Amino acid sequence: MADVPKDLLQEIQRLEELFTVDQTKLKAITKHFVSELAKGLSVEGGSIPMNPTWCMSFPTGDETGTFLALDMGGTNLRVCEIILTDEKSEFDIIQSKYRMPEELKTGDADELWEYIADCLQQFIESHHGEEQFEKLSLGFTFSYPATQDYIDHGVLQRWTKGFDIAGVEGHNVVPMFEAALAKRGVPIKLTALINDTTGTLIASAYTDTAMKIGCIFGTGCNAAYMEDVKSIPKLAHMNLPPDMPMAINCEWGAFDNEHKILPRTPYDIIIDKDSPRPGQQAFEKMIAGLYLGELLRLVLVDLHDNKDVHIFEGQNIDKLRKAYTLDSSFLSLIEEDPFENLSETRDLFHNKLSIAADHSELELIRRLAELIGTRSARLSACGVAAIATKKGYETCHVGADGSVFNKYPHFKARGAQALREILDWPAKKNAKDPDPIEILPAEDGSGVGAALIAALTLKRAKEGNL
Ligand code: BGC
Ligand code: MG
Repeated sequence: MADVPKDLLQEIQRLEELFTVDQTKLKAITKHFVSELAKGLSVEGGSIPMNPTWCMSFPTGDETGTFLALDMGGTNLRVCEIILTDEKSEFDIIQSKYRMPEELKTGDADELWEYIADCLQQFIESHHGEEQFEKLSLGFTFSYPATQDYIDHGVLQRWTKGFDIAGVEGHNVVPMFEAALAKRGVPIKLTALINDTTGTLIASAYTDTAMKIGCIFGTGCNAAYMEDVKSIPKLAHMNLPPDMPMAINCEWGAFDNEHKILPRTPYDIIIDKDSPRPGQQAFEKMIAGLYLGELLRLVLVDLHDNKDVHIFEGQNIDKLRKAYTLDSSFLSLIEEDPFENLSETRDLFHNKLSIAADHSELELIRRLAELIGTRSARLSACGVAAIATKKGYETCHVGADGSVFNKYPHFKARGAQALREILDWPAKKNAKDPDPIEILPAEDGSGVGAALIAALTLKRAKEGNL
C-alpha cells in the first residue's frame, strides 16, 4: 500500500482497530457466551432463548418412509419430497424452489400463508397429479425463534432477518399454516415444526455420528445441539427423564443483546437502529450474511461524507446511499478479486454503483471487505467454541450450512484459525491431521433433516411416547 494517500492509510488503520477481534477478546467473548447459554436454559432465562425443540433423539440411520419438507428460509421457499430408503443412512430427494417475493417479507400474514400453501399445492399437483393418497407427513422448517410446547406447535417469538409481518409474533404459526392448506384441500399433515439448525444437526448426524452441533451461517446465524433434560432447569416442571436428550435451538443471534462484550462499532449501532427490530439479534447483526454488505456500505458512505477523508471525491454516490443495496455476494466477489489490480472490484463499483474507484480506494475497499469477513468468521467461532465448552466436547464434528459458510471466501479457514486460538489446541504433529473440532459442510437440514425429524416424531408417537 506504498502509494496510498495518508488520509486513506489512516482510515485503514482505524478500521483495522475497529474490526479486529484478537485472541484475548475471542476468549473473553467465548467465556461470556458459555455462561449465557446456561442462563438461557435456566428458569429466569437470559437473552439467548435456548428453545427446547421436542426433537429428542439422534437418528439411527434406519429411519424409512416418504416425507414432505417445506423450507421457509430468508431468501427462498423450497418444497422437497424425501424418501428415506431401506438402505442405512440413504435417501432420495426431489425438490422445487420458489422465490420468496421481497414484498412478502414486510406484507401481511394472510398473504404469507396463502403463498406458502400455493407453492405446496403446486408441488403436489406437479408430482402427484390427480393420484389419491393418504395425507403426506410434512416437516416444516420455520427458521425463526419459536417457543414450542410440543413438536407441532410454535409461537413465533420475533421475526428476524429483516422480516416484519404483522399478526404473527406471539402466535402459534401452525394453525395459520394449516388453515391455508385446508382452504385449498391440500392433503398434507404437519408432523413437525423445526428450526433449520435442528434440521442441520439431525441430518448431519444421520450420516456422521461424530456430528454434535448444527450451525447455519447464512442470511441469519444460529446453532442447535443436544442437551440432557437434567441440564435444562426450565423444563424441570415437566418431570421428563433426566437423561433424555433434547435438541436445543439456541437462537444465538440474540447473544449479547444487552451489549456487555461484543466489540460493536458505530456501524453496527446504525444497522441495529435502522432495522425493523432494534435491540434484537446483536450477535447476528455483526456476523450474518444479511448484514455484511450493509456494513461495508455504511463505512464507505461515512468516509465519503467525512471531509478529512478523500474517497470517491466529487462523485455522485446516491446509489451507494441506498440501504441494503450490497449483499454478501458483493463482498465475496471483492475478496476473491486478485489483489494485483482489483479490476473486478473496480468493475463492480462502476457497474453497480456508478462509482469510479481509483487504485487506493480499491485497496481500502478490499481491506475493509477482509476485515468484515474475518470478523464474521472469528465471532462465529466463539459460538461454536462456547457450545463445545459447555458440553465438554474436546473433539467433535460440527455440521454447518448457509450461504456465508458455503460461499464466502476464507470463511472456513478463518473460523478454524479462531477456534484454534480460543481453545489453545497443541500444534499438529502432521499438517494434514484434522483439528479436534472441525466445522464441516452439513447434510441438507431443512430438507432431509425436516423429513428425519418427522420420521422420528411418528416413531415416538407409535411407541406411545410424547
Ligand atoms: C433465526 C434462526 C435461524 C437463523 C439461520 C436467525 O435469524 O432467528 O431461527 O436458525 O437465522 O437461518
Ligand atoms: Mg470524504
